[in-house]
Amino acid sequence: MFWNKNIETIDRTGLENLQWEKLQKVLRAAAETPFYKKFFLDHKINISELVSLQSIARLPFTTKHDLRLSYPYGMVAVPRDKIVRLHASSGTTGKSTVIFYTQKDIDDWADLVARSMVATGTSRSDVFQNMMGYGLFTGGLGLHYGAERLGTMVIPASTGNTLKQIQLMQDFEVSVIHITPSYSLHLIDVLQEHGIAPEELSLKKAYLGAEPYSEATRQKIEELYKIDAYNSYGLSEMNGPGVAFECEEKKGMHIWEDYYFVEIINPDTGEVLPDGEEGELVLTHLNREAQPILRYRTRDLTRIIPEPCACGRTHRRIERIKGRTDDMMIIGGVNVFPSQIESVLMNFPEVGNNYQILLERQENLDRMIIKVEIYSKMFHGDLRELKRLEAKLREELKAIIIINPRIELLEPGSLPPSMGKAIRVIDNRKI
Ligand code: ADP
Ligand code: ZN
Repeated sequence: MFWNKNIETIDRTGLENLQWEKLQKVLRAAAETPFYKKFFLDHKINISELVSLQSIARLPFTTKHDLRLSYPYGMVAVPRDKIVRLHASSGTTGKSTVIFYTQKDIDDWADLVARSMVATGTSRSDVFQNMMGYGLFTGGLGLHYGAERLGTMVIPASTGNTLKQIQLMQDFEVSVIHITPSYSLHLIDVLQEHGIAPEELSLKKAYLGAEPYSEATRQKIEELYKIDAYNSYGLSEMNGPGVAFECEEKKGMHIWEDYYFVEIINPDTGEVLPDGEEGELVLTHLNREAQPILRYRTRDLTRIIPEPCACGRTHRRIERIKGRTDDMMIIGGVNVFPSQIESVLMNFPEVGNNYQILLERQENLDRMIIKVEIYSKMFHGDLRELKRLEAKLREELKAIIIINPRIELLEPGSLPPSMGKAIRVIDNRKI
């Protein structure tokens, strides 16, 4: 099923011509903003010298820092009265940044989200419960408008109030949910506590996004709920959700290249990498009126999957985000991503639905403590079994992350549940 088959299956030459046409318009619009005016001057860029899609590589990158510098209106490319909305990033890594939209930007965004939902097989006859935060965060309103554009009934449940969420799902036979992976694992715990089997619900699929999670976690969620879970990627600087989405094949996320120009770079050198190599995702708006952003460093690590997708869409796919360049932990000199730890943990059937990574410094040495909730039957069982599980977890983790963590096994519900983006790492070393 397609939302706009012509554009979703456009041939590569057609797509590149379209991108170049759109890019020229975006460059001209950006050049009028106070931020890029100065930026181009400082970097001696004359946009009339950019003569092809490839010449975009001559532009310097725009960073989150630049967005903060240009706060509040420095990157706005339209008169103030054409702006109809603002959103802000969640501020995971510092002061949040603000993004503006014209009516056309909102319409285009809704269209992309509708396209993404249709790619997963969702239709007007579905009932969609949106369990992402409404408000400044883009996860709520972004999916909301897209689902309405598609014509699906939307329940704007937002986050939290888990019992109410369950009741809505039961009463209105909800078939699709949008939720963070961490909250979905909490929700299943609450369902189990209340003796509700997932089969009693009408749920068919979940859109999981807003935070990194492993393939093992996706599979765990699919098995627990007995549904299909689709990966959804977006960031407020690029509208919000709907930048890249999995199709029914569930093998990587199609990034909508008629709206975003995609590059993968080496995060240390800035060099553009060929398809297939892992690096930092850099995105350029091709369709933005209010606030066009050029070569934006997302800090998200992924790679382009060069092979064509069986669904027939020609827009390339990106692989599951491995993490952010800035959530990489350096422990005793070794680089570790939380997602590496998560994929080991979630492969253990005894491991429950929440965990936390604690970093401490003792006598000048870095220590990693991983607190892991396990299923209560296991927790109240044989002590030797617990010791064995602890040793096995330590051993498998060490094989992946090289360092030797301390494992603390906990009863379900011991760690604070997360409703929005989960905070997985607590680094006490800086204090
Ligand atoms: P903040 O940067 O403050 O978290 P946003 O709310 O805009 O701001 O969140 C966007 C970020 O969320 C992305 O850059 C990415 O790091 C993360 N993210 C969103 N969707 C996914 C996903 N499906 N997988 C991994 N990370 C994701
Ligand atoms: Zn596909």
